[in-house]
Amino acid sequence: MTRPARAFLDARALKHNLERARQSAPGARIMAVVKANAYGHGLKWVAHTLSEAVDAFGVSCAEEGIVLREAGIEHPICLFEGFFGADELPLLAHYRLQPAIHHEHQLQILEATTGLPPLPVWLKVDTGMHRLGFSPDEVPETLVRLKTCPAVSEVRLMSHLANADNKFDGTTQDQIDRFLKLVDGLGLEKSIANSAGILAWPAGHLDWVRPGIMLYGASPLMGFRADELDLRPVMTLATELISISVRRKGEAVGYGGDWRCPETMPVGVAAIGYGDGYPRHAPPATPVLLNGRRVPLIGRVSMDMITLDLRTQPQARIGDPVVLWGPGLPVEEVAGGAGTIGYELLCHVAKRIPRIEL
Ligand code: PLP
Repeated sequence: MTRPARAFLDARALKHNLERARQSAPGARIMAVVKANAYGHGLKWVAHTLSEAVDAFGVSCAEEGIVLREAGIEHPICLFEGFFGADELPLLAHYRLQPAIHHEHQLQILEATTGLPPLPVWLKVDTGMHRLGFSPDEVPETLVRLKTCPAVSEVRLMSHLANADNKFDGTTQDQIDRFLKLVDGLGLEKSIANSAGILAWPAGHLDWVRPGIMLYGASPLMGFRADELDLRPVMTLATELISISVRRKGEAVGYGGDWRCPETMPVGVAAIGYGDGYPRHAPPATPVLLNGRRVPLIGRVSMDMITLDLRTQPQARIGDPVVLWGPGLPVEEVAGGAGTIGYELLCHVAKRIPRIEL
């Protein structure tokens, strides 16, 4: 026997979600976003599962791109944070990685680089996120400079949406309009849409779309559940009951002792905790699925364990299955209760949790 905490991965759900992206943006090529270990799902597994159906992959940095290349992925790979110093450029050339160029310091490094096989680059334009990228005013001159760099073979344009998750926030259309005005007539490939952009902002589909969270089956849109968007959760984080006891009325459960039994009741312990990536801030009453039915968390989340109120399932047994998120319990719902977002919970699933394909 081994510790029962596991992340089960559903390849069919992943392919279905990719198909949703393709149907939603039929004219665009797809750059599947697999940064941060494919949002916790396993970079190589996701890339291999999707490789026949996508046109490119998007990662954060060279280390992630190299993992993909060494795993045999031959697609274009874009590095969203680009490169961090001149010493990385030979690696990028060797592994054929396409950096985003978002700052003057990168441009200067490129201008000073000779003797490497030239690479396509993505010029990152700041249309309103105000995080990375050149301002629209700087783009014409930056393009001229990039086109004269011997290390650059081709320039494409990308921008990133800040508020696309809110269908009613007009700043997204402003960002798209700003980008369209800027790219008009340049004849360069362009991309601005993330998952929310794909599902809610068709004017932003353009040449390439960059789905991330929707591939993994979580909702990218505020106010919409994933199933309402026909997205299927790829990961089921699961474990088992490892202890059951009866606690008397008034007894405190767990660290800090701030949750007390309102009556004499059965309490279960499941083998998962914040050391596995389950959120420590999940409050009492956060649901988990025990034998497929919701029961509430009680007490504080520990490093390796959580405690459950078994009053609605007094017949539960050691070894019964406990699902923390997955079909029937969206990761966004658990995240919302813990004051965070589904993205964070998925990315934080710990290394020690075995990933198992269903
Ligand atoms: N494009 C870029 C540049 C990103 O940084 C990300 C993720 O943050 C995405 C696309 C995918 O976003 P989402 O997961 O919301 O689809």
